[in-house]
Amino acid sequence: MFKRAAVLVVSCGTFLAGCDAAPRIENEEIISNLIEAGFPADDIMVVDDAVYVGRDTQVSLEASRELLQPSEGSQEHYRTTNLVNTAIVKKICINPTTAFTSYPRFSQGLDMAIANYNALGLCFTMARGPTTGCDANISARTMTGTGGSAGFPSNGYPFGSITIGTGLGSYSVDVVEHVITHELGHTIGLRHTDYYNRAISCGSGGTEGTAGVGSIHIPGTPTTATVGGSIMNSCFRSTETGEFTSQDIAALQALYGGGC
Ligand SMILES: [Zn+2]
Repeated sequence: MFKRAAVLVVSCGTFLAGCDAAPRIENEEIISNLIEAGFPADDIMVVDDAVYVGRDTQVSLEASRELLQPSEGSQEHYRTTNLVNTAIVKKICINPTTAFTSYPRFSQGLDMAIANYNALGLCFTMARGPTTGCDANISARTMTGTGGSAGFPSNGYPFGSITIGTGLGSYSVDVVEHVITHELGHTIGLRHTDYYNRAISCGSGGTEGTAGVGSIHIPGTPTTATVGGSIMNSCFRSTETGEFTSQDIAALQALYGGGC
């Protein structure tokens, strides 16, 4: 069984200033920047005043501008141009809302997702908030539907929120762990491993766009995706374990392991 990690509803004004005319003007620039960066127009969607690519990845105005900056090296597990700057971000705190923690499996899944990252000994640690000493904060929220959403890093910081569909409350805690770990992966710059052919994990769908600067192959990882091969595949199965695969670990170690 496949579930599309799609965003269905995102509350208005959670990341833009509000629901008035200003966001629409901002969104026009975001969309224009994304197209210029190489994202196909049919991969871009606007839901409740927020712009998404790849169905579940929210793009801020700032991140869209950074996508147009020249990248180093050539392109071909995949990451965005923008990454978290571990010189300034050593501790990332994930702060669940009351609604989020009201779902016991979400609360447990969040702890398990944080543990997934911390087990790798990366240049940053993750911690569940509220806590102290946070260099960056990510709020964990809920929405209707079955899936999740998040966004790309910008300005050296992870994206500021992940949103999990309350429909996942009826799935196993391992599936919830998988989706939360996946969305946290987006906030630190991981793209979908099968971004070039969503049919691999979703059963249907095409490419999200190589996007030039926006889909950089991570050294040491395969360039091909397989079902179950990565926690960053576009769609998840009801049988997910919630754990990183060896490829996921290689990708994270390449980006954020050692040398810090
Ligand atoms: Zn995703």
